Amino acid sequence: MVRRVRPSGRCRRPRKVGAGRLRWGGEDGVSAETGPLRVWVDQDLCTGDGLCVQYAPEVFEFDVDGLAYVKADDGELRLDPGSRVDVPDHLRLDVVDAAKECPGDCIHVLRASDGVEVAGPDSGN
Ligand code: SF4
Repeated sequence: MVRRVRPSGRCRRPRKVGAGRLRWGGEDGVSAETGPLRVWVDQDLCTGDGLCVQYAPEVFEFDVDGLAYVKADDGELRLDPGSRVDVPDHLRLDVVDAAKECPGDCIHVLRASDGVEVAGPDSGN
């Protein structure tokens, strides 16, 4: 059995989601009413563990430096610091879960309409 110890010390069991990926949560705190989302990664804090790539490989990918970057729907990594990309609707939960579980606290999910962080280290969740 795969177990993961969160920084808080709580142990949670993951559940399988599509394509064999694991999801640790289920609570997302971001409803459909939140509207379109955008996401960026702070590479200065990235540990390179790859959790985000496991959750949403369509949105997160490693570059040769071993750090995670976002990529847009053209499949190209956005390497400039602070680069933001749109979150596809069908990946909202995966991206939000990645932000909540990111060990580096470096995934920032923003409400596209006003830039308010709804998941990640500055969201207050
Ligand atoms: S989950 Fe966070 S720390 Fe881990 S690779 Fe992705 S961005 Fe980096």
